Amino acid sequence: MSLGTFSYPLPTNEPIQQYAPNSPEKAALQAAIKQLKSTEIDIPQYIGSQQVFTANKIAIHPPHEKSFTLGHFYEGGEEHVHQAIDAALAAKSTWASLSWENRAHIFLKAADLLATKYRYQIVAATMLGQGKNAYQAEIDAACELIDFLRFNVHYLSQIYQQQPLSPAGMHNRLEWRPLEGFVLAVSPFNFTAIGGNLPASAALCGNVVVWKPAYTQIYSANVFMQVLKEAGLPDGVINLIYVDGPVLGKVCFTNPTFAGVHFTGSTAVFNTMWKSIGENIHRYKSYPRIVGETGGKDFVLVHKSADVDVAVTALIRGAFEYQGQKCSAASRAYLPSNLAEAIKEKLISTLATITTGTPEDFSNFVNAVIDERAYTKIVGYIEAARKATDATIIAGGTYDDSVGYFIQPTVIATTNPHFTTMWEEIFGPVLTLYVYEAEEFEAAIELVDTTSPYALTGAIIAQDRVALELATRLLSNAAGNFYVNDKPTGAVVGQQPFGGARGSGTNDKAGSMLNLFRWLSARTIKEVYVPVTHYAYPFLSKD
Ligand code: NAD
Repeated sequence: MSLGTFSYPLPTNEPIQQYAPNSPEKAALQAAIKQLKSTEIDIPQYIGSQQVFTANKIAIHPPHEKSFTLGHFYEGGEEHVHQAIDAALAAKSTWASLSWENRAHIFLKAADLLATKYRYQIVAATMLGQGKNAYQAEIDAACELIDFLRFNVHYLSQIYQQQPLSPAGMHNRLEWRPLEGFVLAVSPFNFTAIGGNLPASAALCGNVVVWKPAYTQIYSANVFMQVLKEAGLPDGVINLIYVDGPVLGKVCFTNPTFAGVHFTGSTAVFNTMWKSIGENIHRYKSYPRIVGETGGKDFVLVHKSADVDVAVTALIRGAFEYQGQKCSAASRAYLPSNLAEAIKEKLISTLATITTGTPEDFSNFVNAVIDERAYTKIVGYIEAARKATDATIIAGGTYDDSVGYFIQPTVIATTNPHFTTMWEEIFGPVLTLYVYEAEEFEAAIELVDTTSPYALTGAIIAQDRVALELATRLLSNAAGNFYVNDKPTGAVVGQQPFGGARGSGTNDKAGSMLNLFRWLSARTIKEVYVPVTHYAYPFLSKD
């Protein structure tokens, strides 16, 4: 029983460690990498209190070093999905009734463990398992994940304070209940922080969760699971399983206690899930919450008044950090004819200074793409552009998978604003440029708005305030996260709530109050102090 209203003030963002040469954090991170590479680990599924090992043992390799084995995980089947749902439901009542402060403190402790004891381990695991460089792994696995945990505690405490009016003679209150049933969290490979946040945000609200990460993120997901256990998360509240997507969907979406899905990944997979949920709608006790952040085809629109260096930097960082494997990565740019040549030249000369290679050598800006499937898909787009008559590869275009899945940052220039790589999501280090007539800015805005089915992120680079205002207004539905004179990537929890609409998802803004509302089901309670004792209203009396 809580004997007070406890406060969780707005936290500050976790400071980013820089990993400069000879810094103590660089030495600590290198030691963590060495330590992880010295032991092959066995990663079980976590179902209730059980660590489950199966006969289906799958090796984990760094994307940049295919021949090296980091460890193995144990793939499950249909029976493990059933077991995970059962374990979640068994934990539900105790978890949902635990006092808010005790629930909150588990996640705040997890944040502190990540910021201290486990910081270098989870950053190193993300570098090795998902092929991020030190900085990209730091801003993801350390800072963003820590921020999600701390800010969500603050936001949820604010939601709990939101209460209705109580006129004289009665009391009205809202109880912010968790959903009835279990929540399914399905996470992508590209962010350790998203992997952690999808189950943790729902669990923070009192829900019980079945969590299935992408196979290529299991290595770092396992570290987060250890952190949660050490922070005191009761068994069964989050169950981590590794099963094939369709198997997962078949079991979860036909279960009457399915209460919602918290998904991040591709648009095609989300659409499949939504369809399957619709087909099974008659089975569920409640209407499930369907929350999905999906693909992007993120744009940079450069105005004739732009500063060339600002535009080039936004393009290089926006398109090529983490090899373009961010949902927010810049992948189509619209250049004004007056600046196009200067921007292209600078882009090409700057890219020549960038090296591609293992993240274990900290001087590499670009590293390997996640796996063979991604490599083959991205190479397909590059080769198609090479053969096309309306496109030219002006930088990069080479690749090599002999050691790891390396693709040089590639820039395609097209004369066709509807060229395939101007609208399809590639999810790799490939940027396509289209040059528009500088005096026809509104037509360029129209192209940006209508070319792709996605609407996740986008940037306008301009110094002219009238142009900035026009683009901001006319592109109001083209991006859920819109940037002015900056790259379209790198959203920070508490600063730029993240998510897009159209084909990019339900725009429930991860790391904000909006997202947490989706994992709550409010109950209104009205209590009358001196109840009326007769049905008749005054208007019924005779004059
Ligand atoms: P993906 O769609 O291939 O996989 C995402 C998750 O869904 C994985 O866990 C996968 O195993 C699972 N899955 C696949 N098929 C399934 C099925 N039929 N049923 C149930 N689950 C299934 O995505 P990915 O390659 O891991 O990640 C890249 C994608 O994620 C890109 O499209 C990117 O834009 C998107 N993404 C979006 C955001 C955002 O906030 N909008 C953030 C990160 C990534």
